[in-house]
Amino acid sequence: MPRVTSTAFVAARRGLPRDLNRQIVLNLVRARQPLSRADLARLMATRRGAVSLIVNDLITEGLLFEGATGESARGRKPTFLYIDSRKRCVLAVDMRATRTSIMVTDLLGEPTIAISSFPTEIEPGRFVRKLAARLRRALDEHGKGAHCEGVGIVVPGMVDRAGARVVFAPRLGWRDVPLRDSLQALLDIPVYIENSGRACALAQLWASHEAGLDADTAYVSVSDGLGVGVVVRGELLRGRHNVAGEFGHVPINVDGPACACGATGCWEAYVSNLSTLSRYFGREISPRKPIPAELSRFTVDDLIARARSGDGKAIAALQATAHYLGLGLASLVNAIDPMRIHLSGEIISAWDLIETTVRQALLSRALAPAAAAEIEILPIPSQDYPRLRGAAALVAAPIFGKSMVA
Ligand SMILES: [Zn+2]
Repeated sequence: MPRVTSTAFVAARRGLPRDLNRQIVLNLVRARQPLSRADLARLMATRRGAVSLIVNDLITEGLLFEGATGESARGRKPTFLYIDSRKRCVLAVDMRATRTSIMVTDLLGEPTIAISSFPTEIEPGRFVRKLAARLRRALDEHGKGAHCEGVGIVVPGMVDRAGARVVFAPRLGWRDVPLRDSLQALLDIPVYIENSGRACALAQLWASHEAGLDADTAYVSVSDGLGVGVVVRGELLRGRHNVAGEFGHVPINVDGPACACGATGCWEAYVSNLSTLSRYFGREISPRKPIPAELSRFTVDDLIARARSGDGKAIAALQATAHYLGLGLASLVNAIDPMRIHLSGEIISAWDLIETTVRQALLSRALAPAAAAEIEILPIPSQDYPRLRGAAALVAAPIFGKSMVA
């Protein structure tokens, strides 16, 4: 089946499979709502009658609804179409080594109630039971009666090809945990799990309605660990065993600090939140051991606040992380030569302080510096909740076109 992108709608004509035309209509309304049937017919270069048949089906199925009436110079006033999110919702979960956050969204990934969070349980059985209870509570808060389309979970680790098991999550110490099925058994709602960097990359892909869908891009999420998602020609790079793109564990220096994965000197071990805090406190805090109690309440956000108020040690710690972030980005650039790199995570909220250092380090190790200088680096603010949006996209994107996440 042809791949669906909202920019490929001009290819939608009679004779195309019905499913494809439905996906094109849904994605056009998602990207440009409100739209009238006449707008759709014009955008799809097809007859209004053909569009109406598809639209009527989608209204019957509860995916579209007719809202306000528009203005027309002459003739019938058009009725506007919207994605119908009134009775459907998605549960998005951002699982991190330290805390897990929950957001309820509509079908477009927009939050409907306040985000809640709880400390992550390291023992898988306890984590799943606690998460199930929290998710039920979030659904009650969202409003009873809404149909939940599914739970999307981003995890700090690798996920198997079937999307069922966490193969390895270094910071949690999880190996081969059947997260999907054990949560599904408790909730009776479909569950989708994905590595955090990849889910963020998917969400960016899904959100880009217009240009760049066929481009090569990368998503780097710097947090407790380092998640990377690589998109090649508009498709997420998975590799044969679904473990491609783990740039976080490319060594920067084999004699470097301990990494959560069991090796030493990985890129992650130089740029994770813990490594930034280690530098600030002047002592190595191992990601393989519990964080010392006296440090557990001090976060990278606190460190950034101190840097902004002129604390020299905080500034030095941030700049060192920025330098290593740039060096690792150079490897990424040398390997995939993307058009754009998205960056997110706590430290990215200090982008104004670290951008110059990151770019200098990147250019110092890029094999084609002139080409690397053209790469767009886009910081994603934490207030946009990129990981939770990534989790929501795992559930919502397939509704609009299965091939988007194939
Ligand atoms: Zn590692």
